[in-house]
Amino acid sequence: MSVKYSIIIPVYNEEKVLDKCYEEVKKTAEKFDDKYEIVFVNDGSVDKSLDMLKDIAKSDKTVKVVSFSRNFGHQPAVSAGMKEAVGEALIILDADLQDPPEVVHEMIKKWKEGYDIVYGKRSKRAGEKPLKKFTAFLYYRFLARITGLNIPKDTGDFRLISRKAADAIINMPEKNRYLRGMNTWVGFKQIEVLYDRSARAAGETKYTMKKMVKLASDGIISNTNFPLSFIMSLGIFFGVMSFLGYVAVLTLQLLGIIANPIYWMFPSLGLCLGIVLMALGIIGIYLGRVYDEVKDRPIYIISEKINFE
Ligand code: UDP
Ligand code: MG
Repeated sequence: MSVKYSIIIPVYNEEKVLDKCYEEVKKTAEKFDDKYEIVFVNDGSVDKSLDMLKDIAKSDKTVKVVSFSRNFGHQPAVSAGMKEAVGEALIILDADLQDPPEVVHEMIKKWKEGYDIVYGKRSKRAGEKPLKKFTAFLYYRFLARITGLNIPKDTGDFRLISRKAADAIINMPEKNRYLRGMNTWVGFKQIEVLYDRSARAAGETKYTMKKMVKLASDGIISNTNFPLSFIMSLGIFFGVMSFLGYVAVLTLQLLGIIANPIYWMFPSLGLCLGIVLMALGIIGIYLGRVYDEVKDRPIYIISEKINFE
C-alpha cells in the first residue's frame, strides 16, 4: 500500500518542542484513514534535534528524516521535504505546534472534496508581538497590491498540497523560494480553512529579523518586477516636473518677476535626473525580462487533459 499522506515538518533547533511535536502529530496521523509518513527536515540544527529525530525514527518507521549539512533556511527546508515526500497529499506544519495538527483533518476533508491547495488562514495569532502582527498585516496587503498575485492574506506555510500541485511547485527551479507566492502562482483549486494560531509550545522563534527581512524581500522580488518599473515611473515623474519647471521659469521671466538665468538650472537638473532614471528604468525593464527567463518558471501549468491518448 502506498503512502497517502505526508506530513512535512522543518526543524531548526527545536529540542524543546520536538518530542511534544512528534507526539501531537502522531496522534493526529493515527486517525488518518490511510498510510502516512512523517518527514522531518532537520535544517542544520546545532542542538539535540537531530539526535532526537534519529531516536524517533528508530522506533517509528513512519518517520523519515532528511538532514541538511547546515542551516539553509525554512523555505529550502520545506522545499526539500516536498521533494522527498511520496504521499498523495502533502501537509506542511511547523515544529513548534503553532499550527494545530487537528486542523489537518479539516484540510484532508477539503482535499477529498477536490481541492488541491488547502491553506490555513490565521483568524487569531496568539503569543506574537503586536509589531510582528502589524507589519505582517501591512506587508501582505502591500504585496498583493504590487504583485497582482492574490496571495491569501494572513496565511503562513501551514497547508495541504495535492500531489499534482506539489509536483508543479517542485518543478519550479527558482532558487529564492517564496513558497506562499509559488503556491498561489501555480493555480489549481484552492481554499482556506480558518484556525487560531496559538503561541509557540516551547522555545523561541527561529525566524530572526534577518531571516524575516529576507523572506519579505523574496516575496516581493520573486513575484514582481515592480521595483524595476518603479524607477521608470520615477524618471517619468521627474521628466514631467522639469517640463512644468521650465514653463514656470519662462512665465516668471516673461512677467519680469525673475531675471537671474540661474533659475533655469533647477528644471534642467530635474530633466537630467529624469533622463538618467528613465535610462535606468529601460535597463530595469530588460533586466526584468532576463530575470523572468532565468527564473525559468513554466509558462503554463496544465491541470488536466481530456480525451488524449
Ligand atoms: N525553521 C527552519 N529553518 C530556519 C528557521 C526556522 O527550518 O532557519 C523552522 C522552525 O524549526 C519551525 C518553522 O521553521 O518549525 C517556523 O519557524 P518559527 O516557528 O521559528 O517561525 P515563527 O513561527 O516565529 O514565524
Ligand atoms: Mg513558529
